[in-house]
Amino acid sequence: MSEKAEEDKLSGYHRRRDFDRTEEPHGRTHQGEVDPRPVFVIQHHAASAEHYDFRLEVDGVLRSWAVPKGVSTDPRNKRLAVPTEDHPLEYADFEGSIPSGEYGGGTVQVWDKGHYTNSTRENGHKRTMTEGLHKGHVSVFLHGEKVFGGYALTRIRTGGDKAWLLVKEKDEWADAHRNPVSTRTESVLSGRQLEQIAEQQGRTVQGRPLEGGGT
Ligand code: MN
Repeated sequence: MSEKAEEDKLSGYHRRRDFDRTEEPHGRTHQGEVDPRPVFVIQHHAASAEHYDFRLEVDGVLRSWAVPKGVSTDPRNKRLAVPTEDHPLEYADFEGSIPSGEYGGGTVQVWDKGHYTNSTRENGHKRTMTEGLHKGHVSVFLHGEKVFGGYALTRIRTGGDKAWLLVKEKDEWADAHRNPVSTRTESVLSGRQLEQIAEQQGRTVQGRPLEGGGT
């Protein structure tokens, strides 16, 4: 892939942000550095509409979906996942507060992080992540701290808008009674709650300056 094409992969990410105003990483496409253990990350994002960003390392960037309700460990729960722009791999370690008024203004927490393996098959044949995402279905095995086991990500069409569903697969790690979104609210990177991350940057969870200035 040419250098130009590599840059273009993150053009949507770079175009939306003013890196003089946000502490999010600029990052780059890591083309050709194939990791046998690609990373996955789930970031809790208290933006104007609170959601969880589900990201999978594919071809040198993080393919990303916004999941309003977060991941479930119960195969009966189909979670809406709306595709968002590719993010740089560096973003997997980003935790902090984006100023209110900037793109994605609000606090970002690394809610879970680990690596994944691709188990996507089509008619019994193994498929790469790139092939699966193009066709609209991938199956991944997540090795996280809070989330573990097989998950399916499948494209659906609702009223013309592209959307995907993220669903726990039926395996020994499926559990209708666990609910890590409500019981494990701490960061796996720092142990901090969203409020602590925001306060330490002198902001509210939504990215506004704290009364009295803060630190
Ligand atoms: Mn987000």
